[in-house]
Amino acid sequence: MEYAIKPPTRPWLPIRGSDAIFPIHRIYCVGRNYAAHTIEMGGDPDREEPFFFQKNPDNLVTKGADFPYPARSEDVHHEIEMAVALGSGGRDIPVDQALDCVWGYGVALDMTRRDLQAQCKKAGRPWEIGKAFEQSAPCSDLVPAAEIGHPSDGAIWLKVNGETLQEGDLNHMIWKVPEMITYLSGLFELAPGDLILSGTPAGVGPVKRGDELHGHVDGLHDLHCRVA
Ligand code: MN
Repeated sequence: MEYAIKPPTRPWLPIRGSDAIFPIHRIYCVGRNYAAHTIEMGGDPDREEPFFFQKNPDNLVTKGADFPYPARSEDVHHEIEMAVALGSGGRDIPVDQALDCVWGYGVALDMTRRDLQAQCKKAGRPWEIGKAFEQSAPCSDLVPAAEIGHPSDGAIWLKVNGETLQEGDLNHMIWKVPEMITYLSGLFELAPGDLILSGTPAGVGPVKRGDELHGHVDGLHDLHCRVA
């Protein structure tokens, strides 16, 4: 059999210090996973069930390429997050086995058309137009867990033009990485190549063309990205 059209290439992420690349299957993003960010978005930081949305795998931007300011928005926000790359998956994964599924980690931006997301929230509509647009997910090279282990604390920050605008610690996550994997695997059959963006600390805000974004999570590969 032949494809009727040329098949799209599978999205992938680079791996630090390797010529191999990591294939991406799906991208799940958790909402409101740091209490201070939940409060700044008008939510209640008490521990409720986590909620997730998806970006498209081909929304990834790699190797420090530019983030083009997207259409139809006047209020595009940065959200710095740790990305968790799964090397294996399954259903109903027990929390004490969840980290066995993790292949590695990266530093990602969940770029958001906040004005369109706010309209969706108000109307009770899905968030895709606010979240899952082209180039909405700049991501660093991945670092294998086999090299660095599984980070559960450490600084996460974002500098914009050299000024620190977002700052937090991984241990402030409301839902920890193993808990998110367990929860998601109760809803979906997780698969190798799935990527989970683990939420953003407080300090989200708008970007403008020309901004230089520098994201960091202790022990991982820094993310650099310019708004074009
Ligand atoms: Mn986010």
